[in-house]
Amino acid sequence: MAKRYLVAGGAGFIGAHLCRRLLAQGHEVLCLDNYLTGTFDNIAELVGHPRFESMTHDVATPVDVKVDAIFNLACPASPVHYGSDPIRTTRTSVLGALNLLELATRLDVPVLQASTSEVYGDPHVHPQPEEYWGNVNPIGPRACYDEGKRCAETLFFDFHRQYGTRTKVVRIFNTYGPMMSRNDGRVVSNFIVQALDGEDITIYGDGSQTRSFCYVDDLVDGLVRMMAAPAAVVGPINLGNPGEFTIRELAEKVVAMTGTTSRIIRRPLPVDDPRQRRPVIARATEILGWVPRITLDQGLERTVAYFAASSHRGAEAREYVLEKQAW
Ligand code: NAD
Ligand code: UDP
Repeated sequence: MAKRYLVAGGAGFIGAHLCRRLLAQGHEVLCLDNYLTGTFDNIAELVGHPRFESMTHDVATPVDVKVDAIFNLACPASPVHYGSDPIRTTRTSVLGALNLLELATRLDVPVLQASTSEVYGDPHVHPQPEEYWGNVNPIGPRACYDEGKRCAETLFFDFHRQYGTRTKVVRIFNTYGPMMSRNDGRVVSNFIVQALDGEDITIYGDGSQTRSFCYVDDLVDGLVRMMAAPAAVVGPINLGNPGEFTIRELAEKVVAMTGTTSRIIRRPLPVDDPRQRRPVIARATEILGWVPRITLDQGLERTVAYFAASSHRGAEAREYVLEKQAW
């Protein structure tokens, strides 16, 4: 049955893919964003669609709209961006969650929180299952994001226990793909943009730290499955691709794939940068029937093609590279 979805953070990287997926499924979408890290470009081609509406709003301020379900993706996600105004990041994460939980409770509709593998911090347990409570520095430069997201999870579970709110929490591991912004600052987009522009590829530290990279189409599939799951499925559920790579391996893949002449250089490792990260996805597989399908090589090919096109063709790139869907 067609529903009206609120996608908070809908003009961001993941949000813009989610808006398209929901429209393709025949739903209505209300995209809410303050364009802090997202861009209007990401949703420009959806404007004018009869089932799409956009609203400029900050989630840290209460919102009153009529919808059937809520996705909360509104929060800067790149360390460069969330660390540039940390107090605002905490406000967004905590007050944003509070405001959307109050809306969901009032409307009696499900609300899904885009939480993060950062709740595990620099993990002492590897790979990370949902039962692990994490190892987060509460006073470091990443804390605005990590603790903000942890507090948001706390609010989600307290609203569920106290008011019976229909809450759902997923913990997203490093996700990449087309529609990341060129200046996002996260590793996949940085390396690809640097390689295509012939600039030095910047490995922070010695590049032996690991991450698990999930292609955005797989991730969006997980978000949609979580929302569609029965009310008893509240999470938290990890969503990520368990393939684990060092950052140096990633740089070497990007160099090989782009044929760039860029040099790989080293820069200082950011404070509290997690040493290793890989999700246990048994819950997602058992409960949601979800498994990521797109390998890192396949996803990187598509992402390189997107950035290669966008450097020449600007906003037209997404028409050129993204699969055309029947909205
Ligand atoms: P993004 O920065 O591209 O998207 C975030 C969106 O939220 C942007 O459009 C931004 O303008 C908007 N936003 C920020 N503050 C806002 C506010 N106060 N009010 C309204 N809108 C606001 O990042 P993304 O990668 O698309 O991440 C989306 C969500 O998923 C975030 O909540 C992030 O924490 C979570 N997440 C992402 C990843 C990942 O690897 N991409 C991993 C873990 C969690
Ligand atoms: N990183 C890097 N070069 C860059 C950007 C990031 O080596 O240009 C490293 C970063 O230090 C971290 C990993 O890549 O170890 C992933 O960083 P990202 O910012 O993408 O996400 P994180 O998982 O740290 O939130």
